[in-house]
Amino acid sequence: APVIGVLALQGGVAEHLGALDRSGAVAKPVRRPEELADLHGIVLPGGESTTTSRLLHSFELFEPLRQRIADGLPAYGSCAGMVLLAGEVLGGAEAGITPLGALDMTVRRNAFGRQVDSFEADLDFAGVDGPVHAVFIRAPWVERIGPQVRVLAEVTPRASDDPAAAGRIVAVQQGRVLATSFHPELVHGDERVHRHFVQTVRAG
Ligand code: GLN
Repeated sequence: APVIGVLALQGGVAEHLGALDRSGAVAKPVRRPEELADLHGIVLPGGESTTTSRLLHSFELFEPLRQRIADGLPAYGSCAGMVLLAGEVLGGAEAGITPLGALDMTVRRNAFGRQVDSFEADLDFAGVDGPVHAVFIRAPWVERIGPQVRVLAEVTPRASDDPAAAGRIVAVQQGRVLATSFHPELVHGDERVHRHFVQTVRAG
């Protein structure tokens, strides 16, 4: 089984470890640069991207992690994890966020937060059969994608009554790097998104 690390500096670490475990991976928390060595993939959980960005530097993980992903380590980020995988974060520099640049995209932090902090919606997700129940908590959305980035899910007008949210890109993949604005790890009993990532790791 593939060994998949979960960046364990802050945020929803336990939920991702559990979901990966139930998806046929060997899941392990990662806090030190040496722990990156034997991984086949890594998950960046949700939390607070400003805090995680700061901790990545103080734990001396930023550069080794950036390099490993640039060298082909499959990665999946949810919510704050999506922010950290981006190439560009709107408002990120002022917030002290240096993203890892693993996905050719621009994200806006706390994008859905202007009218509602949190909401849930059923979304179509490319490569996954049937609707995926998506939990958004002060979530980012994707404002720009490069030509190599594939959209996996967006907020349909049916899924949200906020006109600003309709049509927003909320799940993407570029090669073996995946990101979602929402938190599949919080929907217990549905591991389809994590299975999709484990499958992506296995395909390598
Ligand atoms: N708003 C947070 C951030 O941008 C993300 C929230 C989350 O991960 N649930 O860091």
